[in-house]
Amino acid sequence: MASLTLDKVRKAFGPVEVLKEINLAIEDGEFLVLVGPSGCGKSTLLNLIAGLESSTGGEIRIGDRVINDVHPKDRNIAMVFQSYALYPNMTVRKNITFGLEIRGVSAQERDKAVADVAKLLQIEPLLDRKPSQLSGGQRQRVAMGRALVRDPDIFLFDEPLSNLDAKLRVDMRTEIKKLHQRLGSTIVYVTHDQIEAMTLASRIAVMKGGILQQFDTPQNIYERPNNMFVAGFIGSPS
Ligand code: ADP
Ligand code: MG
Repeated sequence: MASLTLDKVRKAFGPVEVLKEINLAIEDGEFLVLVGPSGCGKSTLLNLIAGLESSTGGEIRIGDRVINDVHPKDRNIAMVFQSYALYPNMTVRKNITFGLEIRGVSAQERDKAVADVAKLLQIEPLLDRKPSQLSGGQRQRVAMGRALVRDPDIFLFDEPLSNLDAKLRVDMRTEIKKLHQRLGSTIVYVTHDQIEAMTLASRIAVMKGGILQQFDTPQNIYERPNNMFVAGFIGSPS
C-alpha cells in the first residue's frame, strides 16, 4: 500500500479546463471520499490517477515515485466502477482470475488468490456461476474481488454503489468499511451519497467546477465548512 500525491494536477479537454490545479496528499491507508456535483471532474480525476487519461499539467506520485508517464498496467492501481462490467461468458472464478492469468500467474497461485478473496467477500458459493445468475450486490462483490485479487497499492471507486437499491447500499457500505479496516488499503472513493461520504471517509475532498473547495475530516467539513458551497452540499438532501 502507498501514499498518493497530486501536485498541481490539471486536465483540459481541448480548450475546456476540467481540473484546475488539484493538490491532494492522501496518506498511506487513508480512505479519501471525493464528492461534488455531476460534471465537476470526479471521474476525470480518478482516470488520471489510474492512467486512463493523461494530465495536462502537474505531478501524480505514488509514494515518491512520479507516475505521470507510467503505463496503467504498471501502476498497481485497481478501479471499481458503478457499471461493474463483468465478462458475461466467464464464471465468477474466471472473472476474478482472468487478469492474473493474462499476467502469467500460475494456476496454483490463482487458485489460492481466488480462494482468499472469495472468503473475504463471502462469495465462495458463487464461484461457478455466471454473472447473469447473480444479484446486483453479488455482482458488485465480484467486481471488488477482481480488484482485490490484484493486491493493488491503491483502490479507486467511482460511485460503486449507485446502481444498488437503498438497503443493499447500506450493507455494501458496511462491507467496504470492514474491508478497509482489515486491509488498510489506500482508497479514493467517489460518491454523491453524503451519508456514504460521512461514514466511510477518513477525509473528504469537496470539488466544484474542477476546483477543490475543501479537503478535511468529515467532522470539520460538517462543522467548519470553508464556504457556502461546501455547507450547502453537505446539508442538501442526496
Ligand atoms: P463527474 O465524474 O464529476 O460527473 P467527469 O469527470 O465525468 O465529471 O467530467 C467532467 C467534465 O469533463 C464534464 O464537463 C465532462 O463533460 C468533461 N469530459 C469528461 N471526459 C471527457 C472527454 N473524454 N472529452 C471531453 N470532455 C470530457
Ligand atoms: Mg463521474
